[in-house]
Amino acid sequence: MLFDNSYQNLPQDFFERINPVPVKDPQLIIFNNDLGRSLGIDQKINKKELANIFSGNEILKGSSPIALAYAGHQFGNFVNQLGDGRAVLLGEVSTPNQERFDMQLKGSGQTRFSRQGDGRSPLGPVIREYVVSEAMNALGIPSTRSLAAVTTGEKVFREVILPGGILTRIAKSHIRVGTFEYFATQKNTENLKTLADYTIKRHFLSLKDVANPYLSLLEIVSERQIELISKWMGVGFIHGVMNTDNTSIVGETIDYGPCAFMDEYNPSTVFSSIDAHGRYAFGNQPLIAQWNMACFANSLLGLIDKDTEKATSKAQKVINNFPNKMSEAVMSVMCKKIGLDSTKTNSQEALTKLLRIMLDNKSDYTLTFRYLSEIIKGKRDSLFKQQFLEHNQISNWLKEWKELIKDQNLAKKEIALSMESSNPVFIPRNHLVERAIEAAVENNDFSEMKTLLTILSKPYEEQSKYGEYMKPPKPLEVVHQTFCGT
Ligand code: AMP
Ligand code: MG
Repeated sequence: MLFDNSYQNLPQDFFERINPVPVKDPQLIIFNNDLGRSLGIDQKINKKELANIFSGNEILKGSSPIALAYAGHQFGNFVNQLGDGRAVLLGEVSTPNQERFDMQLKGSGQTRFSRQGDGRSPLGPVIREYVVSEAMNALGIPSTRSLAAVTTGEKVFREVILPGGILTRIAKSHIRVGTFEYFATQKNTENLKTLADYTIKRHFLSLKDVANPYLSLLEIVSERQIELISKWMGVGFIHGVMNTDNTSIVGETIDYGPCAFMDEYNPSTVFSSIDAHGRYAFGNQPLIAQWNMACFANSLLGLIDKDTEKATSKAQKVINNFPNKMSEAVMSVMCKKIGLDSTKTNSQEALTKLLRIMLDNKSDYTLTFRYLSEIIKGKRDSLFKQQFLEHNQISNWLKEWKELIKDQNLAKKEIALSMESSNPVFIPRNHLVERAIEAAVENNDFSEMKTLLTILSKPYEEQSKYGEYMKPPKPLEVVHQTFCGT
């Protein structure tokens, strides 16, 4: 594996040089072989050594760990210094395909950004992030990846005593909207410009020679957010903490905290225990993405134009265009789920109607769409209808929908394939993730986690052996709240 660290060539204020704090007894839970191979990691390293490396007890040749500085708006309130308080960037891995990825340890001990925190992570959040980020990737949604997870052999003290864990995260970037806010709020235009230029050079090289690269940066980052959040909406993913420090500049899902997938469809669904007012509810996510991009715009103003009024007017245009573009993207993702062309008004109406009926009937978001895809293939509609308490309305809707499908004059096989590729069979349902966490934390048993990972690596394929994992929770299994657990 080759390290080629560029972030640490930036000025001192961008980071702190700090090694991970060694842990007592690291044990490997899991290593992601496929991902490791793509990063050029030697496949012959034994488990003990993997545990040493991915706990931070051993620093690899070429790695030069740093903790990154950033700020951020948390639940709408600005915090001028956050930063990697429990994580270190081991370095940037240059892959055999000439790509560059950050390799980060999460739960690796205190840094100068830890504030009151211990810099550690309990095992539960490590398991959750590993499973959910890998599932997101397999669902085709941009996400940071998980390369390894270890237990530390140390206890972490929260409200209760918990076993500690460390996650190795792979990301295209750890630059966040909050990184820009960090320098913007300090009015440090020089560092802000250095950050923007670095971001463009590393991630958006095509912007280098455009007329106003910083305005174009705002545009492209907004587009990435639109693409990302519309995909979240299509699978019922709720991030839970869409703060600007958790908003990646490259449009990857990052910082899996109290995230969760919705079972019954309801746009007001919130799981996070810290989201008391539902700011980050499922249906609010498109709006919050716009809010976050407005923060990004604000921090770029000084670079967009020296004349503040002109800069504001240019940035405002991008932000004003955001809602329409977002609606279009969400509509496109959602209409694909029902096999219809999103640019047609009657497709959009059919979708709106279906969602209304699903809301009234507490239908399962995943199964309803999946079973709808099967009707096209000539299967009976009973499984689909079972997702509704009352059948009159949905039967009428089905009749109308079948007409719309017919009017498209496309081969049914084609429509079915397209629908199936956007309607997963398996998602990391909360009760399944909780079950895997419980087995890991209570009994040091990682088999449930590994089974979940196997199933979720092919989320769009029927896997008859795992039928139970398709199902929504039974009443006693329902998870009502999720926790950051940091
Ligand atoms: P997050 O929950 O990942 O969005 O984290 C928000 C901020 O809190 C980041 O600056 C983290 O580094 C910091 N943080 C969270 N948990 C801890 C911890 N246990 N120790 C130190 N810093 C933490
Ligand atoms: Mg964070």
